[in-house]
Amino acid sequence: MAATLINGAKIAEDVKAEVAHELAELKKRGVQPGLAVVLVGDDAASSAYVNMKARTCEQLGITSRKLTIPSAVTTIELVAAVRTLNEDDAIDGILIQLPLPKHVSKHTVLESVDPRKDVDGFHSQNLGSLLLGHETIAACTPSGIMELLRRSDVKIEGAHAVVLGRSDDVGKPQAVLLMHANATVTICHSKTRNLPEVTRRADILVAAIGRTAMVTREFVKPGVVIVDVGTNKVSNRAEVERLFGNDEARLKDFEKRGYIWVGDVDERSVKDVASMMTPVPGGVGPMTIATLMKNTLKAARMRRGI
Ligand code: NAP
Repeated sequence: MAATLINGAKIAEDVKAEVAHELAELKKRGVQPGLAVVLVGDDAASSAYVNMKARTCEQLGITSRKLTIPSAVTTIELVAAVRTLNEDDAIDGILIQLPLPKHVSKHTVLESVDPRKDVDGFHSQNLGSLLLGHETIAACTPSGIMELLRRSDVKIEGAHAVVLGRSDDVGKPQAVLLMHANATVTICHSKTRNLPEVTRRADILVAAIGRTAMVTREFVKPGVVIVDVGTNKVSNRAEVERLFGNDEARLKDFEKRGYIWVGDVDERSVKDVASMMTPVPGGVGPMTIATLMKNTLKAARMRRGI
């Protein structure tokens, strides 16, 4: 039987509606949350993400401010810009759109964000609090995934969760969140031996490696719940046909844009084995943005103690 698709787009709409409702309540009390997004350089994909975040803010009633900074900026200048936002009382959340240019110290810039305004949950103080299980702001993608699993009635407690990938923004916080939800967690990475053997033990498999359709049938056991975080651009028609056959919707999408987004999971190869899975696109992506809105609301509340 084909896996049930976890409709991330629909769940994200539900979460955004809840956030909008809470924002309306806050406004009645004179509170107007604001999010600042810092975009360095003119990368088209980053710019598109930032615009999407700004649009979502507007839809929900969060004031958004976009700071576009030339790519020649130094680490010191960028930190100074972040500090100005730290001091700005109209700003509750600060998001540094990644990646930053290579000559800028990502670590220094992310650490300069006031932890109370760190809506991405990347500051070491927030990551430390997350590890300790304290109330904090956790990274958007892994938090959104927890919400996707809960709202899809996936039993997390006692399940064996395998997280494929150990990045600071996805894999590590994901593993911690799953552990706090009482899953038994295994983390895999590029040096893991016998990878398919390890991932085949998963009841819940979160794939966050950035490798197009690498997770195939041999990586999964029957009944697994698969969360596909991967967002890989495929701009080659033969590759699209290899992955999706003559899937009309994908081919139409490809013709329209010249590329499509493909996950880390080979959808066709696992869909008759998994019990549930997130699609790409329309799975994790929309929830990441919805969670950013939720985190901005949370930061606004926490900073004011309301
Ligand atoms: P990342 O920082 O590049 O980390 C990739 C991780 O995958 C690393 O831990 C790496 O292992 C591991 N890895 C790479 N190749 C592997 C292989 N062949 N076998 C096993 N492990 C392997 O990436 P990321 O930021 O976590 O993002 C991962 C993917 O998720 C990307 O496609 C990204 O675009 C996507 N993403 C999507 C969203 C969303 O909202 N949908 C949000 C964030 C990220 P090592 O540590 O050993 O190098």
